Amino acid sequence: MRILLQRTDGKQADWIADFAALLPEADITYWREGEATPACDYAVVWQPPASLLPALAGVKAIFNTGAGVDALLKFGEALPAGVPLVRLDDAGMGVQMAEYVSHAVLRHSRRFDDYEAQARAGIWQPLPTFEKTDFPVGVLGMGVLGTRVLQALAQFEFPLRGWSRSEKQLDGVACFAGDDQLEAFLRGTRVLVCMLPLTADTHNLLDRARLSMLLPGAYVINVARGALLAEPDLLTLIRTGKIAGATLDVFRNEPLPQQHPFWQEPRISITPHISAATLRRESVAQIAGKIRRLEAGESIAGIVNRLQGY
Ligand code: NDP
Repeated sequence: MRILLQRTDGKQADWIADFAALLPEADITYWREGEATPACDYAVVWQPPASLLPALAGVKAIFNTGAGVDALLKFGEALPAGVPLVRLDDAGMGVQMAEYVSHAVLRHSRRFDDYEAQARAGIWQPLPTFEKTDFPVGVLGMGVLGTRVLQALAQFEFPLRGWSRSEKQLDGVACFAGDDQLEAFLRGTRVLVCMLPLTADTHNLLDRARLSMLLPGAYVINVARGALLAEPDLLTLIRTGKIAGATLDVFRNEPLPQQHPFWQEPRISITPHISAATLRRESVAQIAGKIRRLEAGESIAGIVNRLQGY
């Protein structure tokens, strides 16, 4: 069996060693721009360039080493038809997302930014507290990661809401589904957590009109993809006091350009797309397990629905 590996992080030797340990029978070819590639059975890719696409012809499955497949699906029909595209299912990202989002929600709800500012000014002054009931948290996207985040936030007893495409039931979460229920979801949400895939339907979803529906004192956390959020609209709403602040891990252009106004806005916390990193060993273990199942003729989880875009 031959596996084609493509990376952008320069860590290919570690990936190859981990695959070799779990699939010793596999011959692993590292893809290099401009070099001829032998025919492969499986491809393991991350944000591949268009020049990789010819090497995918004839593979039995394409494994994406992340949960979001937007960087793969953007190639549309240039991707080989009928070949399963397989995303990572959690693989250690769920707990990282739970940590990141819990931290962001609690930092805002417990006013840690205000206390840090007070501390720097030498001020000892308890501030009014928020009631939990005044602090409904709404998670857009109740998939693998959104569900994990909702379960983590439930420990802190926030009123919880979730929005997805298909109808869901999750203990302790008011569930909303579909475009018709988006407005009702937003109007009852104070802290908005975006965990949707980037698709044709979700591109620019969080624009001025929709962000304006959030409860007063709203806070926005985006850990999904930058293009879900209309960045100038968020900035305007923060500067006019309609939104209290935001924690953003993802941006339309990454790295966030030095001249971007977000850097100058103290009510926006910025991290460099680190909310849930791909963990190499966990990812290789998951992919190797799926390759074994496919070789045995068994079904696997995590196959992307190309029409839905996730
Ligand atoms: P899933 O595919 O498991 O879940 C996606 C969820 O979004 C589902 O609940 C789905 O609804 C919902 N959804 C999709 N489209 C729509 C729509 N048009 N309207 C309403 N709901 C919709 O994805 P994951 O939870 O694994 O990951 C979510 C995203 O997080 C990834 O696509 C990726 O972009 C991002 N991510 C970011 C990382 C980072 O480091 N910043 C790391 C990992 C992921 P339904 O359940 O009905 O299908």
